Amino acid sequence: MTAQAAETGDLVAVIGLEVHVQLETATKVFCGCSTETAEEPNTNTCPVCLGLPGALPVLNEGAVEAAVKVGKAIDATIPEETTFHRKNYYYPDLPKNFQITQYDAPICQNGELEFSVAGDRRSVTIRRAHLEEDPGSLRHVREGAGGLESRTVSIERADYTLVDYNRAGTPLMEIVTEPDFRDPAEVRAFLEKLEEVLEYLGVFDPGRDGSLRIDANLSIVPAADVNDDGSIDDAVLEEANRTEVKNISSHKGAEKALSFERSRQKKLVESGRAVEQETRHFNETHGNTVSMRSKEEEKDYRYFREADLPPLRVSDWKEQLDIPELPDARRDRFAAEYGLSEEAASKLTSTKQVADFFEDVATEFDPELAATWVADNLLGELNYRDMAVTDIEDRLDEVTRLVELVATEEITAKNAHETVLRTMLDEGIDPDTVVEREDLGKTDGDEVAAAVTEAIAENPDAVEDYHAGEDGAINFLVGQVMQKTGGSADPGDVNQLLREELES
Ligand code: ADP
Ligand code: ZN
Ligand code: MG
Repeated sequence: MTAQAAETGDLVAVIGLEVHVQLETATKVFCGCSTETAEEPNTNTCPVCLGLPGALPVLNEGAVEAAVKVGKAIDATIPEETTFHRKNYYYPDLPKNFQITQYDAPICQNGELEFSVAGDRRSVTIRRAHLEEDPGSLRHVREGAGGLESRTVSIERADYTLVDYNRAGTPLMEIVTEPDFRDPAEVRAFLEKLEEVLEYLGVFDPGRDGSLRIDANLSIVPAADVNDDGSIDDAVLEEANRTEVKNISSHKGAEKALSFERSRQKKLVESGRAVEQETRHFNETHGNTVSMRSKEEEKDYRYFREADLPPLRVSDWKEQLDIPELPDARRDRFAAEYGLSEEAASKLTSTKQVADFFEDVATEFDPELAATWVADNLLGELNYRDMAVTDIEDRLDEVTRLVELVATEEITAKNAHETVLRTMLDEGIDPDTVVEREDLGKTDGDEVAAAVTEAIAENPDAVEDYHAGEDGAINFLVGQVMQKTGGSADPGDVNQLLREELES
């Protein structure tokens, strides 16, 4: 793109992603070592994942299953046969000096993922998704001076570096999108959706450190080069210099890194300077990106077939493996089956755990009550405390019990939400204990009736206002009755009783 072209019109960001996802398997992808996080470095290792001479890889069936499930979920073409390649490079976290990955026959090709962003439905093409092994991990250490303990620092400040091969050989799936994104916010929404789908498939643990790692490519093109249907010609994409930002590990991080990169590149282009084609590093703390190195090219890696792994026929897996109902389908079913709004159905299907819990409560009690309790009350209070359902997963039966107390009218909905639920979350105690401690059991009918009579007798001014047609008067009286009954009466019932008595 020429500087002149940039001056004459608006600029558009073009973004494509390479997402690395750790697949949840019990053992590594080419050996029997455990993938559990270990306390001690270099304990989940063997000759294969240490790259010792003569050790041979054996493909983990579980990793293939997970990859095929991902392929089905993104509607990808899964070939009859898939093959493995060696990607050659030297780095201390890669003991074999090559990574086993896939090259020209990846297990998934040409898929698609739909997501919504700011109320709009968007769809991104997934060019390919392939299986590979994770390298080990490095820890850069700075020696503690004057009796201080040594600590982990950035590579530039380190005295030495430790290597841990526990992670080496963890199965990864690299998911490569077409450059279909035009905005960092779309990337964030896409990543959220991708994680949701992977979680539903049961092949991914979002809570695991480093389980999702993103490389984000961004370039700037003149808006005039965007076709009417939003697409951009390959020639334009190839000509545009792009940067690849590495070291992104979260949805938010991706949005931040790309926003920074977009304005950095725009400024360059607007001032007539060139964008260097390079690899940049995202600094999470500063929210910026810094140049790492010029971009490596495919030919640098000397790809060749992995002769120790024969071609793999995937057709049987493809036919035999079923995948569970995915978030979009479940959302539509929730809306239709339980009469929920689009918004409530989306909230309730955002994770499989939430959706399963909602369905349990809906079946046991009532869908409307379940929707209020799970989508509004529970998720709302958790969100307020910066918590997620995973944080209380072993206490979900307590929440069910709380809904039961409401459903059977043993306590009021207001008390259940504002006192019991909040106390449960803040103090970690069960609902029955809260009800007893706070004396929240519903006041019986006689007591409420007596309080209504009392309130009317004690507040002649309010009664007069009521008869004069003043709206606020009834609310004042309801408040008086609620106070007398310690908040344990149902405000709707009280309102009704008051009107009946005032009109009689
Ligand atoms: P390479 O061969 O250099 O790795 P690829 O064509 O394989 O490049 O694409 C790698 C990633 O870069 C993909 O995620 C793709 O969507 C993205 N990409 C390609 N062209 C552009 C561009 N002009 N702007 C932003 N991202 C791009
Ligand atoms: Zn091993
Ligand atoms: Mg590439």
